[in-house]
Amino acid sequence: MHTPVRDTFLVFGAPLIEEPEIREVVDVLRSGWVSTGPRVGKFEEMFRDYTGARHARSLSSCTAALHLSMIVSGVRAGDEVITSPMTFAATANVITHVGAVPVFADVDRRTMNIDPAEIRKKITPRTKAIIPVHFAGRPCAMDEIMAIARERRLVVIEDAAHAIETVYRGKKVGHIGDLTCFSFYVTKNIITGEGGMVTTDNEDWAARIEMYGLHGMSKGAWRRYTDDGFKHYQVVYPGYKYNMTDMQAALGIHQLPRIERYLRRREEIWRRYDEAFKGLPLTTPAPPDPDTVHARHLYTPLIDIDRIGRSRDEIQAALHRENIGTGIHFMSVHLHDYYRRTYGHARGDFPNAEYISDRTISLPLSAKLADGDVGDVIAAVRKVLS
Ligand SMILES: *Cc1c(COP(=O)(O)O)cnc(C)c1O
Repeated sequence: MHTPVRDTFLVFGAPLIEEPEIREVVDVLRSGWVSTGPRVGKFEEMFRDYTGARHARSLSSCTAALHLSMIVSGVRAGDEVITSPMTFAATANVITHVGAVPVFADVDRRTMNIDPAEIRKKITPRTKAIIPVHFAGRPCAMDEIMAIARERRLVVIEDAAHAIETVYRGKKVGHIGDLTCFSFYVTKNIITGEGGMVTTDNEDWAARIEMYGLHGMSKGAWRRYTDDGFKHYQVVYPGYKYNMTDMQAALGIHQLPRIERYLRRREEIWRRYDEAFKGLPLTTPAPPDPDTVHARHLYTPLIDIDRIGRSRDEIQAALHRENIGTGIHFMSVHLHDYYRRTYGHARGDFPNAEYISDRTISLPLSAKLADGDVGDVIAAVRKVLS
């Protein structure tokens, strides 16, 4: 009879939610001001201070942040945008939302980040922007990427969904590229349930993002029902409904001050995994590069499928039977149905992304994990791989 390592299922990516934010959400409900309001403003200010960027604008998701970043920076139908295939599909989907063409550039196998030499090969006269993705929280080669962008006059929009805490050569992610997009989705390093943020040093872009995210109504329209008297507004752009609410910001304003504490905890778990998996048929993630802070969003070893003669999916299913939830980050975007059909992508197009895509598995890394949970993950991985 099969006896799993754990009696109860360990959910992958469960967030740590503490009492102060629970109380704050209840306060929001009692205040009656449940949509965009003063807590959103406070969270934006805190986030701006945390990243050191000149402007921070909250939105309903990182996907919304990426979409509006494209619009305000002038990416138009027919333009090409270069990005990594080793990402969540949203990064590429938003390129198609503005009618532009996603052009993938292969990643480096060790860092799992987009390779600047591959970016150079993909530039054409139609290239308008680059979206580097800081995979798992490891910064991309931003000096090289910014040099390419300056030389070819391209916009750089960073997908920092994994990378709130990331620092690259002394520079905090959030004011390296032209626009930087963050996620507070439930599995991310800090959470607002659903939510995102854009940072930029460009005041005009920040103002337009705020406006376009709320129907394109002239600035500050959310204040129209306050006690300063009803204010008329003009719709100056056919905008979107992408605003963050005070219920979401209530979570963010308590989570953000704990971000470094949560990171320390994930670093500890990471070290335990590295130590415990020595000698097993897997490649542990590369250590952080010198002069960087890795945000440790995901722990993604590559399973040595050639040596063990079993697929990653079989290993994942076996861990599930041990009551350990895992994730896959990511199936390379070019292998998804829409991208194959629309752009004719196939296996062989991006060998490094495919190599990772076939072997990667994400083990639980949330700050919520107790030492016993981490021990269970280790025991299950050892059992399944030996
Ligand atoms: C989670 C994620 C997104 C999307 O974030 P949402 O806030 O859910 O829209 C974008 N890019 C990457 C790399 C992600 O992991």
